[in-house]
Order: sequence, then structure tokens, then C-alpha cells
Amino acid sequence: MGSMHTGLEETEGGFERMAAYFAERAANNIGMIITGGIAPNEESSSGGAMMSSDEEAEKHRMVTSAVHNADPDVKICMQILHPGPLAYTPNAVAPSAVKSRIAPFVPNELDKAGINKQIDDHVRCAVMAKQAGYDGVEIIGSAGYLISTFLVQKTNLREDEYGGSYENRMRFALEIVEQTRAAVGEDFILIFRIAAMDMLEGGMSWDEIVTLGKALEKAGVTIISTHFTWHESAVPTIATMVPRAAFTSVTGRLRKEVNVPVITSNRINMPDIAEQVLERGDADLVSMARPLLADSAFMRKAVEGREDEINTCIACNQACLDHTFSGKLTSCLVNPRACHETLLNYLPAEQAKKIAVVGGGPAGLAYATIAAERGHAVTLFEASSEIGGQFNLAKTIPGKEEFYETVRYFNRMIEVHGIDLRLNTPATAASLKAEDFDDIIIATGIKPRTPDIEGIDHPKVASYIDVITGKKTVGKKVAIIGAGGIGFDVCELISHSGPSGAVDRDVFAAEWGVDFENHPRGGVTGVEPKVAKADREITLLQRKESRVGAGLGKTTGWTHRITLARRGVNMVNGVEYVKIDDDGLHILQNGQPEVMEADTIIICAGQDPLRDTYDALIAEGLKPELVGGAYEAKELDAKAAINQASHMAAVV
Ligand code: NAP
Ligand code: SF4
Repeated sequence: MGSMHTGLEETEGGFERMAAYFAERAANNIGMIITGGIAPNEESSSGGAMMSSDEEAEKHRMVTSAVHNADPDVKICMQILHPGPLAYTPNAVAPSAVKSRIAPFVPNELDKAGINKQIDDHVRCAVMAKQAGYDGVEIIGSAGYLISTFLVQKTNLREDEYGGSYENRMRFALEIVEQTRAAVGEDFILIFRIAAMDMLEGGMSWDEIVTLGKALEKAGVTIISTHFTWHESAVPTIATMVPRAAFTSVTGRLRKEVNVPVITSNRINMPDIAEQVLERGDADLVSMARPLLADSAFMRKAVEGREDEINTCIACNQACLDHTFSGKLTSCLVNPRACHETLLNYLPAEQAKKIAVVGGGPAGLAYATIAAERGHAVTLFEASSEIGGQFNLAKTIPGKEEFYETVRYFNRMIEVHGIDLRLNTPATAASLKAEDFDDIIIATGIKPRTPDIEGIDHPKVASYIDVITGKKTVGKKVAIIGAGGIGFDVCELISHSGPSGAVDRDVFAAEWGVDFENHPRGGVTGVEPKVAKADREITLLQRKESRVGAGLGKTTGWTHRITLARRGVNMVNGVEYVKIDDDGLHILQNGQPEVMEADTIIICAGQDPLRDTYDALIAEGLKPELVGGAYEAKELDAKAAINQASHMAAVV
């Protein structure tokens, strides 16, 4: 289980919760766990978790004991993370005063004494981790954090023995490893995480990576873990549009150069993908982080041949990294229990009830499967011929193919928990009344909002549902009203041609300017992204003055904005819609009237709750409960729907 900061480290009572979170995974066949990053000193902590005193170290004992009690064979290693110039503090330090594009402060250049202190603090942190019961540590030397900034020329401008030649730039990393090994002894796991492809213009060359790998081995590492980016790089490496296991061949090349085991990672989210990586010889160990948030029993299910029961990580980042980078507690869109193991549990129901769930979208599915898992007799009514609701739209968007997995998971859970699934069956007040259910849950979802614009009934106008399902043909000049998640999805769909980069690594490499074969510096230096322009003229509009796409996910929004801009999509903010007629869409921009010629105008203006069934039941004197979009459509997404439904089903 790869390292992932969850925010529990800084939450009140977080160590108890972290202990439960890791122990649940340890009890489910994981081999080794690497914790989220812990800072070794004040200048690296940004107010977050730190291990620089016995008192801080002692708190971790709860975590290590819980893991070892769950399974004594499971190893747990603590990640030592010194963010260097990425620390959110004016005390941030770095080899040189070079500000990262994504950092708030110019770091303070370390002098010789400062360098020695950073080395000593890493070593002390590792020793304390050992005292706290960890089996090892992982030292992170990638991502744009302190150690990696010594390695890369453009962030290390020093002229002393820690800068200049590559031998000098490696010195800091190697001294940390050598001195840590000497301090912790031979029996302690020492993992070093390197950027095997840092995705930086002018980043590390392949020769430098291999040289570092060999030198780390000599310095005493037990394992080398490979990572594939700096946070500031402009290539997505874990978003859902990244093909599965896209980067493991890079680890494979390094593996041939060193004798210690190597770990690979990134977008490995199902057991068969991990098996293929190992069979190809790309790595000795496969690391997954988000997939184990999504399903704590991932490995047990894999071992027992129950892969089809795995709740797959869809790489959306919506409840994990988007939360982490917004200072919120990490969880998981498909599994709200993640990091809430002490708070949200699906225990056997005290009294089995007969429950009707109306609507097989994300909310209805989560409610139905959890209630049934707890022992209730659940009947799930779905008006259409398949379950999935809005997921069925999402899965057809290029780059969002992972949503197929969520629908597959719920289909399997319906079988496993013996839910009476009634497809093509719109529930009516009469039919529900006739069956005498104890509880009726209305999860009928949403209906697209129809904005109040003159001419909205014009034949040029299409709803996003008609476009995504292919019911309406889209012309060559398109205006999209509404630039939320759905507006962007529709734009992605109609601006796209050829295979999806999410399933074809060559397409991904071309679109993002990555050269996996020749591996120029950083894997990207001098490689121009080749993105086919859209074969239609598309304008994406919103009324807000903010930047178009500003409300998208923190860690993935930029990838969508870049992709669409490269395809030539025009994004316009601050408009007022006036009317739609044969000439197109009439708008006011900066108070000036304009006519946008358009042969198709697609409405992506959000949603309203769909409550027809609910209203009919209320009229009949029944007492249904609302969940998901039917409850609240405003800014509703699958994360909120599943979270609400899971909490409700946990206590019914
Ligand atoms: P949304 O995010 O609420 O966006 C609706 C858009 O329509 C806004 O840009 C809004 O912008 C505009 N709008 C609202 N009322 C309007 C009106 N009366 N007339 C004209 N324009 C109007 O809704 P959505 O795009 O349908 O997405 C639904 C939910 O699914 C959201 O929570 C979204 O985050 C989620 N989702 C997420 C993803 C993802 O990848 N993370 C993808 C798809 C959907 P202005 O008011 O500025 O015009
Ligand atoms: Fe995976 Fe999305 Fe869950 Fe994060 S929130 S673990 S990316 S499914």
C-alpha cells in the first residue's frame, strides 16, 4: 500500500482513526504499508504531522501496534517527507532560492550547517520511526520535494560540494541514506523513492536516474520505489485519463540496472493489471494507494478469486487528492468509509426490514447494496433497462472509461447480497403500496435544468443527455451553455476523435508530449504535445466572471482545461443569454450584444431534483425518504450522493 497523506495525521483523534484505517487493510492480505508523509523537522512540516521528538514518535505506536496485531507478517514503513521548497512556510528551505511554480514562498537557501541539519533530522526521524515500531522508512526523493531539488540542475544552482556536477547534486541524497542506514542498522527496511521520470522540462536524464539508482543501492537502500512526476509538472500521471499502468515500463528499465527490488505504481487499479506488470518483469513489487482506499479488502478478494467484487478506484481524485490538497480529510468517492473506519460501519441490522429503493443510480445503488449487506430484504426498482444512472453517461466520455468498473461492482453486489432487482420497472405509488414495504427510499435522481431563455424550444437546442446518448446529432458550430463538470464532459466528447488516451498509451504519450522510449530529460524535454484540433467549432459559455473551469476538481481541472484549449475550444465567461433563434445564440458580453452562429446549442445548465414518484407517494399518504439528486440536485455529484446514501443505509 503506497504512501498517501490522508489528513488523519493532523485530525483530533486522528491516530486512533489511522490505526483502524491501516489495520483494516493489514487484515486483508496487504504485504507492506507505507504511511503518509511525516516531516522530519519544523522547516518541513508546514504545521502538519512531524516526527522530531519522542512525544511525537510515541503517538505512532498505536498505528504500528494495530497493524502488527492485525497481521504480524505485514510490514509498515513510515514515509519521511521533507517538502523543501513546497513547504507552506516562509521558513521553507532548498538547495537554492528557486521558487517552485506552485509554491507560495521563495525558499531559503541552505548553508552548509543547514544541509547538515537537514541530513541529521532525516536520520533522527528514521531512528524515532524504528522506536515507534515501524519496520522501515521510505525517504521521498521525488515530486519536487527537498531531496529531488538537489538532484535537478534547474533547482540546484549551488557551487559548493552539493551543487554543480551530478556527483555533487547526488551527495545530499546519498549522505541521508548512508547515515540513516548506519543509524538504524541492517535489519530495518530503507526505501528510497525516486522520480524515474520527473516530467520536467530539463529534468533528470535517464543516465542520471540509473546512476542514482546504483549509488542508492551502494549507500544501503533495501528497496527503490519509482515515482513519475513532480507536483509542478504539466503531465497528468494519476488522473483517470491516464492509461492503466502507463509508467511501469520505466520502472522495468531501471529494474534491469539495479540489484535491489524495485516498486512501481500509478494507475494500477485491478489485480490483473498488477499481475501483468509483474509478469512483464517491470517491477518486483506493485504499490497501490487509492485502490486500497476504494476497497480495503482489495487484496483478500484478489487472493480468493473474487476480483469481480472489488470496488475499483476510478482515479477521479474527487474525495481523496482533491480533499487532501484543499485541507479536507481524505476519503473515497466510491467508498465513504475510507478514513472513517471508526465512524461509518455496515453492521448487521438489529431487525431485518423490507425496503424498496426506487432508482438505480449512484445513490440508489449505494443505499440498496449497503442495506442488503446489513441483512435487509431490498427490492431495487429501475425504470430503465440497466443500473448506473448518471454513471452510464459518465462512462461513455473519453477518459472516463473507469466508470464501467463501478457499474460492474454494483451489478455484482446486487447478486452477492441477493437484491431483488427489477429493471424496466418504474415504481408507482400503487405498486409500492401493494407490496407493503417497511421503508421506501426515493433515489430517482435529477432532471436536466431548462434555463429560462427565449427560444429554448428551438430545434437547434439539445440537452446534454441527448448528446451523450447520441439521440441528437451535433453540428459543426456548437455553443455549450454551462461550463460545470457536465459542460466539460460534453466538450470532451464532441471535441474528441480517435481512440481515447485513457486506453491507448501511444495516444496519451502524443497528447501530453511524453517520450517513453527515448526518455529525454524528464521524459518530456523537447517533446511537443500533439493534439488533434476538434473538427467542429465549439464555444463553452458561462455567466460567472470567474475563469471557465475554475470549479472543476483541484487536482484534475487543469488537465481538462489544457486538453480542451489545445483542441481549440473557445471558453467564454461573463455572458448573459438573450435568446436563441435561426441565427444562433444571442448573448450580451460586457454589455455588448453578440450573435454566436451555432447549429447546435447544448444545454449543460445543471440539474433539478426529479421527485415525481416522491410527490405521488406523499399524495398517497406514504412516507418515503429522499436520497441523492432527488434530495438535493444543486452541486450534487456522485461523491455526495454515495456518501449520503451510505450514511443513511448504515443506520436503517
Ligand atoms: P454544475 O456544476 O452545477 O454546472 C452547471 C453550469 O450551468 C454552471 O456552469 C452554471 O454556470 C450554469 N448554469 C446554472 N444555472 C443556469 C441557468 N439557469 N442558465 C444558464 N446557465 C446556468 O452542474 P453540472 O455540470 O451539470 O454537473 C453536475 C454535478 O456533477 C456537479 O456537482 C459536478 O461537479 C458533477 N460533475 C463532476 C464531474 C467531474 O469530473 N468532477 C463531471 C461531471 C459532473 P453559470 O451560472 O456561471 O452560467
Ligand atoms: Fe479512487 Fe476516486 Fe476513491 Fe480517490 S476518490 S480513491 S480516485 S475512486
